[in-house]
Amino acid sequence: MSLIETEGIVLKCHDLAEADRVVVVLTPDHGIVRAVAKGVKRLKSRYGSSLGPFNHVRLTYFQKEERELVSLQECELLRSNFQVAAEPQMLQLYSYLADLLLALVPPNDPNALVFRMTKACMASGKLNECEIGLIKTYFEIWLLRLSGYLIEWRKCYKCEREFYPDERPYVEAGLRFVCSACPKRTLAEFAPDGWYKVFHNVEKLPPTDVLAISDELNAAKEVSQLLVPVIERALDRSITTLRSVAVDGLIR
Ligand SMILES: [Zn+2]
Repeated sequence: MSLIETEGIVLKCHDLAEADRVVVVLTPDHGIVRAVAKGVKRLKSRYGSSLGPFNHVRLTYFQKEERELVSLQECELLRSNFQVAAEPQMLQLYSYLADLLLALVPPNDPNALVFRMTKACMASGKLNECEIGLIKTYFEIWLLRLSGYLIEWRKCYKCEREFYPDERPYVEAGLRFVCSACPKRTLAEFAPDGWYKVFHNVEKLPPTDVLAISDELNAAKEVSQLLVPVIERALDRSITTLRSVAVDGLIR
């Protein structure tokens, strides 16, 4: 049995009988951890209000080798998202990000980049509707990239010529970009205006900086539409099977 201390973002909470709670936490160095917190609902619980969804916490837990569920010992609140997630649209955004993480991050596969990116996306505070769409697209692009589902977008996938920033290539199924000189499938569509800037800025900048470039909001929405089939291929099922999408509808 080992005692582990790390930080994490609470993705889900689920209350059990006898005042216990199971929390699912994304950590940078131990991947997604499922922990039982004993007596969390009792008055003066030692966890305080730290174990709410989408909070950034420091946690200490015991791990037995063969057990999937670990035993939470201590949990300290680093950043609360309670107020922000009280907004229905923010709750919807965060639930969607959590659903994607739970579906796409394999168990026992720590990824510090996924953690940092998620933390940054959830640290922007309350957002307006357009900004929510931008953070959603930001998160989708990065999660697909880090899980190996996003293909090279800088070059034509057939002739490998690099695109110019103002070029609008065609897009084929699976988000493969094709230049106008190469043969393409009949169903290929034009990439949305501003697509290049969206991909470029999302890969280069932290989410707060991307939010500051407001002229990208419409292009981000269209890019997010293009990503739906790629997400579905990664999930190996329809995006509507995600609880956050099935219950609340897809964020527009
Ligand atoms: Zn080409």
